[in-house]
Amino acid sequence: MDTPLTPARALTATRPEAVPTGVPCRACEYELGGLFSDGNCPECGLPIQASIHGDTLALAAPAWLARVESGAWIIVWTTLSWLGLVIAGRVGITLFTQGAASPTAELVLKVALAGLSVWFLLGVWRLTTPEHDLKPSGRRLLHLVRILMISGVTLNVVQRFGTLSRAAPVPGGMLAYEWLDEFLATAAWACVMFHVTALARRAGAYKMSNSAWLTGWFIAASLGVMILAMCIGLLVSVSVVPGAPGGLLMGILGCWGAIVIPVTLLCALVLVGQFAHRLELVRHRATLIRSHQRFQPAPPPDASAQT
Ligand SMILES: [Zn+2]
Repeated sequence: MDTPLTPARALTATRPEAVPTGVPCRACEYELGGLFSDGNCPECGLPIQASIHGDTLALAAPAWLARVESGAWIIVWTTLSWLGLVIAGRVGITLFTQGAASPTAELVLKVALAGLSVWFLLGVWRLTTPEHDLKPSGRRLLHLVRILMISGVTLNVVQRFGTLSRAAPVPGGMLAYEWLDEFLATAAWACVMFHVTALARRAGAYKMSNSAWLTGWFIAASLGVMILAMCIGLLVSVSVVPGAPGGLLMGILGCWGAIVIPVTLLCALVLVGQFAHRLELVRHRATLIRSHQRFQPAPPPDASAQT
């Protein structure tokens, strides 16, 4: 079960104690030994609690939490709107134009979807905002997510607007091009899930964190299945393999594509929504902790000298 959020006061209202020697500041590695636990790092200003209590999100900067939270909400709402628009668009075109869509209707739909895609990317950008004291390796991972998602979504928009030429210069080249946006977006979604895994853990939401981890691996497996299916398609297209490959294999791949991928992505979306809600609570708590710290009287400057 997820641990309930402990009241903000529990972290700050305890009697300030002297920090034992050998405890470095989380952000700048300044030696905090001998300082009071309710103060801030003299070097960089990070609350000392953040270095003592590990990396719990409730001690993170509220501004950063708000940014990540808004990113998660944007992802949820744009993805839902995107799906709704695609379905409504298809149904509308079929009902009102008997399948033969007018170019204007198609264009309006494409522009609306492209607009939602841009908004979605803004959400991913905000969700993957690195924390100010994040180590370079973590920062690189977040940048990788951004690059993958931006390339995938941009390519998808370009494909929607562009007219795909069937004459591919390389055998199977067209197939690879048609699938590339999905590969990139799927890889990015897996990384988003691992990012949520780490943050949910820091928010004390262990069940959510485990679900995100499992979903991340399912999405990664889906990427493997998609690449396998494309390779088979490629081999068939260059006639290395005569005819269609075995029915069982194609059945498994088809099932995976039609059932596992949509269900996993839906799970991912629900998890991002749950995560956003959790972050909202954590952010309120973080704000409370910060304000509490600001108004606390400063500890006596030199307690040992008084004895
Ligand atoms: Zn510091």
